[in-house]
Amino acid sequence: MSRYWSDIVSKLRPYIAGEQPRIPGLVKLNTNENPYGPSPKAIEAIRQATDDRLRLYPDPAATELREAIAARFGLTAEQVFVGNGSDEVLAHTFQALLNHDLPLLYPDVTYSFYPTYSLLYGVETIEIPLDDQFRMRLSDYDRPCGAIIIPNPNAPTGIGLPLAGIEALLAAHPDAVVVIDEAYVDFGGESAVPLISRYPNLLVIQTLSKSRSFAGLRVGFALGHRDLIEALVRVKDSFNSYPLDRLAQVGATAAIKDEAWFETCRRKIITSRENLVRELEALDFEVLPSQANFIFVRHASRPGVALQAALRERDVLIRRFAEPRISEFLRISIGTDAECARLVAALKEILAA
Ligand code: PMP
Repeated sequence: MSRYWSDIVSKLRPYIAGEQPRIPGLVKLNTNENPYGPSPKAIEAIRQATDDRLRLYPDPAATELREAIAARFGLTAEQVFVGNGSDEVLAHTFQALLNHDLPLLYPDVTYSFYPTYSLLYGVETIEIPLDDQFRMRLSDYDRPCGAIIIPNPNAPTGIGLPLAGIEALLAAHPDAVVVIDEAYVDFGGESAVPLISRYPNLLVIQTLSKSRSFAGLRVGFALGHRDLIEALVRVKDSFNSYPLDRLAQVGATAAIKDEAWFETCRRKIITSRENLVRELEALDFEVLPSQANFIFVRHASRPGVALQAALRERDVLIRRFAEPRISEFLRISIGTDAECARLVAALKEILAA
């Protein structure tokens, strides 16, 4: 390999995804999936669409889905962009909107795809450290920048930023694109969508993978001023003019319309989270305040790496990150109450040993 190519390859650090093992009976609390499954109406819609119409290309504009999303959020279809999971929407966003002459700001610690995409698309970045309680200090963002990206709630901490903080950022940076990644917002966070009508520099990204339990379908979307959306469409059309397959469009449209299922599942998850927090605090875990479908916890005396391994031996899978500042923490997705009970029982056994 020539030196030129090996330099490029060594600079590209791929995102390391959570494990997806195919072991039956595993309590899988490692990738923030929703335990309740997608809307039964959406599954039925996919079934109804599974016939010889699959020989036809899908609607390249995903019109029905974009209209359903627009109606759900009080926007127009021109303010909606859809893609294969919010990871793909984020990729197009990095390419189209975050690649300025001025740097992109994001928190350190945050969703680890941001550094990966920044490297991939040559985006200059400044990482802004969280404070000693893993909160964002907004005054630290008071510097020249071309764009800001923040997950709200943050990942993997689960800590949410109040809407007033986001509005302050938008107002302080009228010339910068501010991207709010709301993958987990439906579990108690405050959505920035109501600010879209007043801030043309705001792009909100959401996913069907978490609160709508459709991680396997791969559908995410961006909401914002039509000019920002148009930038994403141009990148998408230059990359692959079919954003979503036929079945994904049908299933996602039905899922977005099934508000009752969405509401029931997200409420159950919030209640289970509150119960699990109490149980883990009683076992001497520090639990960061979470507004997500996961919690980020560290034990008062047991190392994170040992706890993760001991849980794995007991068929409970959780996530841990290698970065030194957070390597003692375990990120635990909120499962069903039965799954949470198995986790707690396993932890009690481990801590008693
Ligand atoms: N943003 C954040 C903060 C996430 O944690 C995730 C899930 N790993 C995503 C976006 C991407 O989710 P998806 O591609 O499934 O929509």
